[in-house]
Amino acid sequence: MPNCPICNSRAVGRVGTDQFYCWDCFVEYSNMGDQVRIYDIAEDGSLEELEMADIDASLI
Ligand SMILES: [Zn+2]
Repeated sequence: MPNCPICNSRAVGRVGTDQFYCWDCFVEYSNMGDQVRIYDIAEDGSLEELEMADIDASLI
């Protein structure tokens, strides 16, 4: 299981075939080859893809 790409936490859970959830920064992420996609989970449960620039500003 890959560490969280944002905070490098190992407190992650698998939520799909290539999808993971970080319990430390509350995002979902997926590894597609060498490409990492990061998603914020909206209140209605939908996923919103985040850009790395947004993540730097809002989570770190
Ligand atoms: Zn994290």
